[in-house]
Amino acid sequence: MIENRQFYINGAWVDAAEGRDYQVIDPTTEEPFAVIALGGQADTDAAVAAAKAALPAWMATPVEERIAKVEKLLEVYQARASEMGATISQEMGAPIDMASSSQVGAGSWHLSGFINAAKNFEFEHALNADAPNDRIIHEAVGVAALITPWNWPMNQVTLKVGAAAIAGCTMVLKPSEETPLDAMLFAEMMDEAGFPKGVFNLVNGDGVGVGSQLTSHKDVDMVSFTGSSRAGTLISKSAADTLKRVSLELGGKGANVIFADADEKAVKRGVLHMMNNTGQSCNAPSRMFVQREVYDQAVEDAAAVAKAVTVGPASESGRHIGPVVNEVQWGKIQDLIQKGIDEGARLVAGGVGRPEGLNKGFYVRPTVFADVTPDMTISREEIFGPVLAMTPFDTEEEAVELANDTVYGLTNYVQTQDGARLNRMARSLRSGMVEMNGKGRAAGSPFGGMKQSGNGREGGKYGLEDFLEVKAVSGWSTDAN
Ligand code: NAD
Repeated sequence: MIENRQFYINGAWVDAAEGRDYQVIDPTTEEPFAVIALGGQADTDAAVAAAKAALPAWMATPVEERIAKVEKLLEVYQARASEMGATISQEMGAPIDMASSSQVGAGSWHLSGFINAAKNFEFEHALNADAPNDRIIHEAVGVAALITPWNWPMNQVTLKVGAAAIAGCTMVLKPSEETPLDAMLFAEMMDEAGFPKGVFNLVNGDGVGVGSQLTSHKDVDMVSFTGSSRAGTLISKSAADTLKRVSLELGGKGANVIFADADEKAVKRGVLHMMNNTGQSCNAPSRMFVQREVYDQAVEDAAAVAKAVTVGPASESGRHIGPVVNEVQWGKIQDLIQKGIDEGARLVAGGVGRPEGLNKGFYVRPTVFADVTPDMTISREEIFGPVLAMTPFDTEEEAVELANDTVYGLTNYVQTQDGARLNRMARSLRSGMVEMNGKGRAAGSPFGGMKQSGNGREGGKYGLEDFLEVKAVSGWSTDAN
């Protein structure tokens, strides 16, 4: 059993002042494998005080030096990548190969994205050529509280820490209590990279405790949160009294619109994307809308692809999917699958219960429902498990209406060979991101949503801007520096 009840505050590992023990469960075995402390107000206060004290000097540090620290961090992160992969895998159940490649790789990708973006970002510039004495200064928002989920833990931590550090913010990270160990390993890396004390602090805790203490703290200037829309609402309310800047990355219910002229791999690609990370991705294409003339074939193909997805322990090498993160999520997914059946959707793959031969571990059967109607619960709620809902449509207008008929607006997907239609769809879909024909977004492309998927933009230049104020100065001396 790993025991680590310390927090990283003001450049040192310190014992929790008000710690309560919390067991970290391995979702493959359902057994606890680590004990951490959930902090209290005194721990939150100490971390915020350290960040506040470090702020003036860190803001005044030339941006080239801040970038250099993040470059050093990237070097350390890559050197300890296999340790990170193993930690993420055990904590949240991502199979070891996937954890080591995609999960860990997302962190390197974002850190290098910020380094490149910052090198091309003008932190100070004239308002325009006609107003040389009007200066625009992009400066740090201040002390940032960073609150992250468990599903892509390093992806989220690096998106926030990398941007905040380069922007000149100091910070307190509260990772998910389900995945605290990867964040503690990351804190070791921040230490090794040599960030000045107080710039980065980590306190473990739950949402009700440290989470709420941070979002209502008078000395915290901004909250950058990734997690459920439920918590996003609570956080917005909690931050309102002190009028903090609140950047939110929340849930999703992505539509994948497949037209009759889509490429032949479109359905398979959509199903596998849905099943990736055991369906625990905010941008999962969980509603597949298929044009009627190819719908029956698509249902048949989707069922076959889902049935061929294997499920197994996170510790084993291979391309299978692992368990979901914990018992609560497992139960919630089971209830939603049952609801799909009860509300009349046609189950064509998977179903309730564990996959055959797996009696222990939070395993879910890769599941596909056909003939799902927009009013059904499985078409409306974020399931956060390997469950796909398929619905036929006739016209492009109908597809747009169906896709946009959700409170969420994170990522939508389009599959067609018709270029004009691609671009029309991209303009019509109400989501922060639209990915078409399986093309991934390039480095520096902003990640974020509309509607109840949140208001933040993470990654690259746009991610830096989330942590920057815009200061307008008149009477600037062009003779001096
Ligand atoms: P969650 O909202 O339960 O928890 C996320 C984090 O918020 C945790 O650290 C938790 O302790 C903390 N928290 C919970 N309640 C809080 C409160 N009242 N005040 C302050 N902090 C609080 O979410 P989760 O179950 O960890 O993650 C899954 C959710 O995250 C899904 O809805 C998923 O779609 C979303 N997500 C969104 C993105 C995105 O970029 N849009 C990325 C990944 C995950």
